[in-house]
Amino acid sequence: MKYQSTRGHAELRSFCEILLEGLAPDGGLYLPTHYPRIDAATLARWRGLRYHELAFEILSLYIDDIPADDLRALTARTYTPEVFGSTEITPLKPLDRAANTPEGVDLYLQALSNGPTLAFKDMAMQLLGQLFEYELARRGETLNILGATSGDTGSAAEYAMRGKKNVRVFMLSPQGRMSPFQQAQMFSLQDPNIHNLAIEGVFDDCQDIVKAVSNDLDFKRRHHIGTVNSINWARLLAQVVYYFAGYFQATRDNGDQVSFAVPSGNFGNICAGHVARMMGLPIRHLVLATNENNVLDEFFRTGTYRVRGSAETHETSSPSMDISKASNFERFVFDLLGRDGDRTKQLFKTDVEQHGSFTVTDDEFARTAEFGFVSGTSTHADRLATIRDTYRRFGVVIDTHTADGLKVGRECIDWGVPMIVLETALPAKFAETIVEAIGIQPDRPPAMRGIEDLPKRFVVMPADVQRVKSYLSEHV
Ligand SMILES: *Cc1c(COP(=O)(O)O)cnc(C)c1O
Repeated sequence: MKYQSTRGHAELRSFCEILLEGLAPDGGLYLPTHYPRIDAATLARWRGLRYHELAFEILSLYIDDIPADDLRALTARTYTPEVFGSTEITPLKPLDRAANTPEGVDLYLQALSNGPTLAFKDMAMQLLGQLFEYELARRGETLNILGATSGDTGSAAEYAMRGKKNVRVFMLSPQGRMSPFQQAQMFSLQDPNIHNLAIEGVFDDCQDIVKAVSNDLDFKRRHHIGTVNSINWARLLAQVVYYFAGYFQATRDNGDQVSFAVPSGNFGNICAGHVARMMGLPIRHLVLATNENNVLDEFFRTGTYRVRGSAETHETSSPSMDISKASNFERFVFDLLGRDGDRTKQLFKTDVEQHGSFTVTDDEFARTAEFGFVSGTSTHADRLATIRDTYRRFGVVIDTHTADGLKVGRECIDWGVPMIVLETALPAKFAETIVEAIGIQPDRPPAMRGIEDLPKRFVVMPADVQRVKSYLSEHV
């Protein structure tokens, strides 16, 4: 399998070549040159596999530069019950089984958040940790990952890379602005290859510093600086696996269809669903749920993609979906435009950068339905109501992001088609809103109890590019 840029750059690359890279040279994102189609016999065979075996089967269709035995070992080491809490790895939890929805349709949560940081980002990041260590050892190289976080991504990256050989993580976070729980998750890590830099500023300051360092190409090359952001193809590929795993659990026969509801921010998670559907997984609808930052819902309702300024971006109680633009969306648009790299470049490079928006043609917009997409928006009041209702009727406490997915998912149920809502975080991560909704503290997994009291390892630094660079130089 070869990979191409969404902006038409001619050179094709292999999986391991793009594994440690960000954008393509022309500023586009990498996608495989085609999506392998899964025939009925293969789908039937996969139904019986364990999660890590399924992961191996899917990954090996897209990775031809890692020997099969090595790839099998990497997936087996990643997706274990010890790390993800159950042998199913992403078990379905039935809601409405007894009561049923008005339409009489099965409604499920798919648990993706039982990894070390209690959010679905572990599903991909844990595999990335294994792949990075493997590839760096093979090349005899080291990598220093520089990132900025306001929560989920940074902690997932640190837990994936801790103790890994030839990798260091330097994670910038806004000092005093993460929840005490999120801060404790990151700062309690004692591994020498993990560096927490608490920046005296807001998240945007952290991100600006990362950009400034990355734009200093000489510094970047000398210090082997890289990233693990959500545009990494390997992360997306890892996420394709749980759509298959969810499908097999919700159906008995490969003639059945299901729909997935996906709480969305940067369009990474649901893009993996799009890839699964393009491979032939029988998905009726991919239901895209946004919070008040409804950039993507607007697109799927109107055909206009309009990025927001910082003044227009709301801080919400589902903060991991607070986006002003969706960094993975270009991948989907490339497919929507019949893989026309020049036109994709025109829309994202010229129209978005110069005018802040683009509108696709009527024919192109019609294809969003062919690709199975529907969408909706959820608000703070919807989240509270959904959390309350789910607790009252089923005794199940869900997190705020999952509540956005469930609210919109319910609105998009088709008769006879099970709806699987992806649970993207555990409620313990967003306790404040849970208390607001139902008046009780959500449970924490035993390993997370009292982490706020553990010794912390971090350095405080002003929002100053030079100071961060000096720190990097001294510690790489
Ligand atoms: C990152 C995240 C999302 C958004 O996922 P995308 O892949 O960016 O669409 C939703 N919920 C939670 C809890 C997250 O951490």
